[in-house]
Amino acid sequence: MKYLIIPLLLAGTLFTVNGQGKQTTKEQTAVPPCLQTQTAVQTASLNREEARSLVLLREEEKLARDVYRFFHSRHSWRPFANIARSEQAHMDAILYLLERYDLEDPAAHKDEGEFRNRQWEALYLELTARGKDDPLEALRAAALIEETDIADLQEALDGFAENPDVIRVYSNLLRASKIHLRTFVRMLELRNETYTPAILSTDEFQRIMEG
Ligand code: ZN
Ligand code: ZN
Repeated sequence: MKYLIIPLLLAGTLFTVNGQGKQTTKEQTAVPPCLQTQTAVQTASLNREEARSLVLLREEEKLARDVYRFFHSRHSWRPFANIARSEQAHMDAILYLLERYDLEDPAAHKDEGEFRNRQWEALYLELTARGKDDPLEALRAAALIEETDIADLQEALDGFAENPDVIRVYSNLLRASKIHLRTFVRMLELRNETYTPAILSTDEFQRIMEG
């Protein structure tokens, strides 16, 4: 058996080095693009705030995905579908960390629009009702979701985030959320609508819009 195992281990190592980790993670969620650049890291531990925030953000990304899917079904604007796909990738990245650190997934077995956290459930109902018949309201609701996401990710990165996996994933999600916010605000501007930030400061919002 020794002679069989050694070549298999070597093959596994080569796969990892080439970044094609599928073979080594077949029991887990596939490695999301946000994490693919990392080399073999030791698993650091999570602090309490990081664990709480991962659980919250898993459903926060689901809120974004579900609301954009709903808006796409109502208004058929392509950015809603494209950005919903990006939110799915964000959900996957957070799920990868939940599994890696043995945390329970709050979004398991939840349908579209269903949340464990009542805060997200209430926001889903409010925002979908707002943008249901009015595509401009849908864009404003979408921008508000991105503002919320940016504020939560920034708070984590400026404050309690220490674990390198968490910092890497949150930094990627933050960058994407800024692009999403710009997309929704520019879509409003193309229709001669201005967007006033509700969560971020005017300075922060301007900096993001200038990209
Ligand atoms: Zn996101
Ligand atoms: Zn987003």
